[in-house]
Amino acid sequence: MLTLERVDAGYGATSILHAVSLDVRAGEVVTIVGANGAGKTTTLRTIAGLVKPTRGRILFEDEDVTRLSGHEMVERGVTLIPEGRQLFPEMTVRENLLMGAYRRAARGRQAETLAEVLDLFPRVRERLDQNAGSLSGGEQQMVAIARGMMARPKLLMFDEPSLGLAPIVVAQVFAVVDRIVKTGATVLIVEQNVFHTLQVADRGYVLENGEVVLADASAALLDNDHVRRAYLGI
Ligand code: ATP
Repeated sequence: MLTLERVDAGYGATSILHAVSLDVRAGEVVTIVGANGAGKTTTLRTIAGLVKPTRGRILFEDEDVTRLSGHEMVERGVTLIPEGRQLFPEMTVRENLLMGAYRRAARGRQAETLAEVLDLFPRVRERLDQNAGSLSGGEQQMVAIARGMMARPKLLMFDEPSLGLAPIVVAQVFAVVDRIVKTGATVLIVEQNVFHTLQVADRGYVLENGEVVLADASAALLDNDHVRRAYLGI
């Protein structure tokens, strides 16, 4: 579904990603593992069309999408649930969710999609008419995920969904991610909780200083000495 071919990208004169190649097949759950600053967020933002590659190619469903904008990538079915949630705090939860459905393929099916999404997020259903800014951090994360799903994406990308949440809330966020995975969604996930994520994912890429240094099945990565020492603290 998605292929990155030796992609370089960065911000202005600062290059962050160096010849990053990766692929995600339909129905797969893939994770990117790496230390702070390794370039994980930049990789997701590059795929989402928010950072432009300076070299290399990005293919989505066999078409070259390297130069497409963020908006065009959303239209193609690529949705990023950003780190830090980025809800509209003065708008209600319902309004925030409907903002997620602006993709053409989702616009005509808002009511149907909202009903489907709320089935996955009973807590969000209870808060529909509350301002998003008044929710707890965990509830806001649930809304951010639900909003991403409102676009009926083909590829759903998560950037650190458990960041800054209390352990009990982290477990709730993971339960939701697990449920989404079980629906057969194609998922690319960056997550600080490497142990849990490798158990959910089919495969993973290890990113260090903007370069892919290791790519393997999750089970193999869980067993890999370098991964265990550097990312699992074992
Ligand atoms: P973290 O887990 O801390 O979010 P990450 O692996 O996601 O790390 P990135 O956020 O992709 O890493 O950042 C990679 C590098 O790019 C960092 O050195 C960061 O300072 C730099 N960077 C990120 N955003 C920008 C920006 N808008 N302008 C300039 N440099 C940036």
